[in-house]
Amino acid sequence: MNASSLQALIDDIVAATRSRCDEGAVADYIPALAKVPPDRLGMAIATLDGTVLRAGDATEPFSIQSISKLFALTLALRREGESLWRRVGREPSGTPFNSLVLLEREQGIPRNPFVNAGALVITDVLCQRFLQPERAVLEFIHGLLGRTDVAIDAGVARSERQHSDRNAAIAHFMRSFGKLGSQPATVLDAYCAQCAIAMSCADLARASLFLAADGRDPLGGSPVVDALAARRINALMLTCGAYDAAGDFACRIGLPTKTGVGGGILAVVPGRMSLCAWSPRLDANGNSIAAAAAIERFAAETGLSIFGAS
Ligand code: GLU
Repeated sequence: MNASSLQALIDDIVAATRSRCDEGAVADYIPALAKVPPDRLGMAIATLDGTVLRAGDATEPFSIQSISKLFALTLALRREGESLWRRVGREPSGTPFNSLVLLEREQGIPRNPFVNAGALVITDVLCQRFLQPERAVLEFIHGLLGRTDVAIDAGVARSERQHSDRNAAIAHFMRSFGKLGSQPATVLDAYCAQCAIAMSCADLARASLFLAADGRDPLGGSPVVDALAARRINALMLTCGAYDAAGDFACRIGLPTKTGVGGGILAVVPGRMSLCAWSPRLDANGNSIAAAAAIERFAAETGLSIFGAS
């Protein structure tokens, strides 16, 4: 498909999916997130030649929340390489993203880097490497975009930190098993700030394009991560990237995805493109209903599911 037919397609998808924007509810367990205008819907595609296509509210920044786990993981893998997998697993958890239940049985080793426990371990790794880990994640994103105007929303970061009892419990529990090197408070400060990075669909699609290009920035040509790491990240997105609905997403969409409670969903079409949709209202699993519907329709219309056209 060329750029103009892709543009027409996402314009159509956004127009057709707007009717889904009133389904579900905005996340309110982080009070600052509850203030987001709930009826937004945006979609963007970045293709390997650097073209970025936008539809609806694709340029409006929103709280990327768990999508930040993708960038933190990439940065940690870049620094640690394969030894990172000694500290965090690579299996779907089958439990909610903020659950503690498996941690006791598994002696403080989280199931994967996308549940909160795993993301806190990744942040801990970054705490050992960087004085300001959240700045390191932000600057990594700046490097991917070639711009420095993406920022942490301090109000959202503060709001999450003030309501981080559950994540604090997870961090302390892992430390009790000797699995967290830094103090829980240090890790939580960095984690909440990283989750509060605000980005648009267009920027998220562009920043994640290396995952569609074997780990290389398709424009600069330099490696962001090696091809093995990129493959691992895509595999984890497919199996663990949509909370407790990763299996359902694999069936409906068939692409590596990472979702966040800010309502964003990032998807990678390996070898082709990266795309992102955003709408704030979520289903019971914490995934945006309209954004998932938009990406599902995109995969169906283009036949770009990694499992083939249907
Ligand atoms: N900052 C959020 C939390 O830890 C991230 C949630 C999400 O997007 O999954 O609760």
